[in-house]
Amino acid sequence: MSDILVIGTVALDTIETPFGRVEKALGGSAAYSSFAASFFANPAVISVVGHDFPEEYMGLLKKRGIDLGGVQISDKTFHWEGFYEYDMNEAKTKKTELNSLAGFKIKVPEKHKDVKYAFLGNIDPDLQLDALSQLKNPEFVVLDTMNFWISSKKDSLLKAIGMANVLLLNDGEARQLFKTASLVKAANDALKLGPGAVIIKKGEHGALLFTKEKHFSAPSYPLENIKDPTGCGDSFGGGFIGYLAKTGNLNEANFRKAIIYGSVLASYNAEDFSLNRLKSITMDDIEKRYNEFRDIREF
Ligand code: AMP
Repeated sequence: MSDILVIGTVALDTIETPFGRVEKALGGSAAYSSFAASFFANPAVISVVGHDFPEEYMGLLKKRGIDLGGVQISDKTFHWEGFYEYDMNEAKTKKTELNSLAGFKIKVPEKHKDVKYAFLGNIDPDLQLDALSQLKNPEFVVLDTMNFWISSKKDSLLKAIGMANVLLLNDGEARQLFKTASLVKAANDALKLGPGAVIIKKGEHGALLFTKEKHFSAPSYPLENIKDPTGCGDSFGGGFIGYLAKTGNLNEANFRKAIIYGSVLASYNAEDFSLNRLKSITMDDIEKRYNEFRDIREF
């Protein structure tokens, strides 16, 4: 039985970084986040792919026990093409081909409607809202987004944020959405919309958690070998909600631990293209790096 419902894209990604290039590799917000969450819990995915989507990619997700019954097949798979320069904190989009995502209508299977944890990954905010409206009474909703939707669907996005318990976004997106240079101001503006917590991801500089009462700053892992940061935000989100679903504890102290687990997954993800690194790690690797994070912050 699945305990986290993940809504987002399952994509073919063409990516270039200073360390290599991949063409039509497995990607998408739902692929990365469900994969990361699967180390802690049992995610199910709601998404769409095209007839061109390789069976091998489906197999990789299935092998981790991810329920793909809610992945529809129509037309051609969503394709994102992007590149990074040496500052890997910023993805530059070359092309976004929505393909089957353009006509996608969310249909949450009956068996997932009373799920407790929902991860509204980066996708059209109207689809995030639609998915939420089909859930009976989700206890904990985490929402992620990106610049593309901030520019093209801001009103729907603000509405969706108002229904989430936790908003995840990166520093550039926070500044863009709330039109401010101050991340503290952006977080406070976000909290006014409804979420009880806002997490601002700062790429290789860690992550910040804001609630009305508290503020936590998580370090980043000093990675020497970084090949491709695509999917780090999604891996972070999947690790974060996965750990919370596993422990069932939604207090602020546990959020801090979940943020470190999210950071561990994100740091591993950056070590290779697509899901290549995540597919080779074990729970022992995750715990080992979690403990290293603890050491980094002790003084
Ligand atoms: P991130 O974790 O932010 O690096 O997310 C990377 C993933 O986002 C890639 O695998 C892309 O396929 C996916 N992506 C890119 N653009 C969009 C978009 N407009 N909506 C949803 N997903 C996207």
